[in-house]
Amino acid sequence: MNDCIFCRIASGEIPCMRVYEDESTLAFMDIAKDVDGHILVIPKAHFKNILDCDEETLSAVMKTVKRVSEHLTEDCGYDGVNLLNASNESAGQSVLHFHVHIIPRKHGDQLDAWPKFDGAKQDIQDVFAGIRMRQRDV
Ligand code: AMP
Ligand code: ZN
Repeated sequence: MNDCIFCRIASGEIPCMRVYEDESTLAFMDIAKDVDGHILVIPKAHFKNILDCDEETLSAVMKTVKRVSEHLTEDCGYDGVNLLNASNESAGQSVLHFHVHIIPRKHGDQLDAWPKFDGAKQDIQDVFAGIRMRQRDV
């Protein structure tokens, strides 16, 4: 038996408040009750996170993120969205099935959806030298 909670939601075994669904993705209300309108978008197939998700599925997820975001801003009275994702436990991922959080925003809503970082600890040029990517051969 699959004990992944989002797989069980995707299969209909566990109910959810479904906002949008298509063949390969599902958008539903996050039950955290931490902010009004908190929505999750998932692929129906199980991938742990963006690091192991194939590109076709990732495109489908992001297409749904865009559709739902457009619905929120065009039809529901919101002015913008924050998109959040944690990939791997080190990044704070708690449910190990790929998901993108959508936080709907309104002008003046006073939400603080951007983390307060402590300030960089290393020289930016040193960090850049370590993480820059070479152009792939085409
Ligand atoms: P993360 O910490 O990025 O992995 O986020 C996991 C999210 O899943 C949290 O915001 C939870 O509130 C949400 N969550 C967990 N179980 C459910 C559920 N059964 N239905 C809706 N959202 C859920
Ligand atoms: Zn799963």
